[in-house]
Amino acid sequence: MQDKTKVAIIGAGISGLACASHLQAKGSTVRVFDKSAGVGGRMSTRRGPTWQCDHGAQYFTARSARFRAELARWEAAGVAGRWAARIGVIDSPQGPWRETGANTERYVGVPSMTAPAQFLAASLPVQLDTHVDDLRREPSGWRLHALGQGWQDDLYDAVVLALPAPQSKILLAKTAHTFLGIVDEVRMRPAWALMMHCDESFDPGFDAAFVNCGPIRWIARNMSKPQRQGEDVWLLHANAQWSEAHLDAQPSAVIKILIEALQEFCPVLVRTSVVHRWRYADTQTSLGRDYLWDARIGLGLCGDWLKEAKVEGAWRSAVCLADAMTGELENNCLDVELISIEFSSFLYESALVLRNEILRKPLGRSLDNDDLNGESEQLHYGIICQDRTLVACVSVKNNGDKRYKIRQMAVSERFQGKGLGAKLLAHVERELIAGGAKKISLHARESAITFYEKLGFSCCGELFDEVGISHIKMDKII
Ligand SMILES: Cc1cc2nc3c(=O)[nH]c(=O)nc-3n(C[C@H](O)[C@H](O)[C@H](O)COP(=O)(O)OP(=O)(O)OC[C@H]3O[C@@H](n4cnc5c(N)ncnc54)[C@H](O)[C@@H]3O)c2cc1C
Repeated sequence: MQDKTKVAIIGAGISGLACASHLQAKGSTVRVFDKSAGVGGRMSTRRGPTWQCDHGAQYFTARSARFRAELARWEAAGVAGRWAARIGVIDSPQGPWRETGANTERYVGVPSMTAPAQFLAASLPVQLDTHVDDLRREPSGWRLHALGQGWQDDLYDAVVLALPAPQSKILLAKTAHTFLGIVDEVRMRPAWALMMHCDESFDPGFDAAFVNCGPIRWIARNMSKPQRQGEDVWLLHANAQWSEAHLDAQPSAVIKILIEALQEFCPVLVRTSVVHRWRYADTQTSLGRDYLWDARIGLGLCGDWLKEAKVEGAWRSAVCLADAMTGELENNCLDVELISIEFSSFLYESALVLRNEILRKPLGRSLDNDDLNGESEQLHYGIICQDRTLVACVSVKNNGDKRYKIRQMAVSERFQGKGLGAKLLAHVERELIAGGAKKISLHARESAITFYEKLGFSCCGELFDEVGISHIKMDKII
């Protein structure tokens, strides 16, 4: 990718919009396409003449520091807020409902679930009502084809598919890309959603409940969420198994069965109702990867199905992809080259000098035997710049059983802050994955935890002392 890269993002759900925002903030020119008439995808709100109801994602959690920071931005903009709901659990139609017992903090879009998506979209060029049904890589970039509109004029350096896995598969099939086989491993499941006006006296004592019996999985009073307007509407989600078995059922039959199931544990009079079928609601088998990115042709995939089937997971996947893409952008501007380094070669000696300079001298130490033991058996990688000077290096120890440990990463002071560390690690990761790696670990300095988190590593255990400074073990499961 070069400076002012043009990127097409297909899908204006939370992942597509988050990816586009991050790329735009880093200097790329972006354009987001969606087949729907509005943004938000599965973070969606159904509207009637006198009512509205969140009928996709019901709430979201914010567990990672990065997403919490984004949530704080949304809250400051007034587009998200805490849902302090009374949440119950129903285990059997006969028994009383119980409290969840969990202390989960739940958040929702305000005044509707689509609000965070609309907030992100407000500063992005978004082209709605555009169903991308084909794409091809031409010598000078990607060209998109939209249903009923034909091949588009613009060419893009990169394309991001921010769509559910089966919808990504349809587009990948057009390019015959190797990601097609990978995406094929993912299984997503449907959910029927029923929105109902109930008798005004209906108050089961909870605002929402998880249901562990019969076809229903979740019930919620939409008005219990902050700043909702209109008539009181209740929402039911059928569970994945039942929804899958009734995927092609008539809406009238779905309404009848779900209302009867509800009445088994809540005596309620339902006045009017409407159903919606979500074909891809959750992910049964995910990839366990944050994103997919092929830098050679500029093709990336993100979304909730890659690792964590939630709003937070979709957002995280998107920003990790944007990080990887912009890392490439910065590095390619630097005109550097990734290389493998042979043990005991001239470049290996250069790596020792660099490691000593960056990792040991500032601590008042020098590389010692403990640092160098076993290095003849290890893999060594580096980055050289135009004049062939080594500017970054890293070593990798094979711990057996497809587990690897990254060690001794150093980036020359002059080249720090330009994304070279991320580029080198991404390269090493690709090489290790090609060799069948299942787990990559490292000991991160406390100050570098966020850097590694952005690359998909997670902290394991407590901080410990290594070479006189605080470290933590971090793992990435491939
Ligand atoms: C019923 C249900 C309940 C849920 N409950 C929760 C919950 O309580 N908490 C939680 O965290 N998450 C929940 N989720 C999951 C959450 O909604 C998703 O994880 C998240 O919204 C996914 O965002 P995304 O951007 O990856 O995908 P999407 O939101 O699906 O966005 C994809 C977008 O791509 C568009 N698109 C598809 N194909 C094309 C094409 N060919 N051309 C152009 N555009 C296209 C679609 O119109 C859509 O707007 C729920 C989902 C459902 C359906």
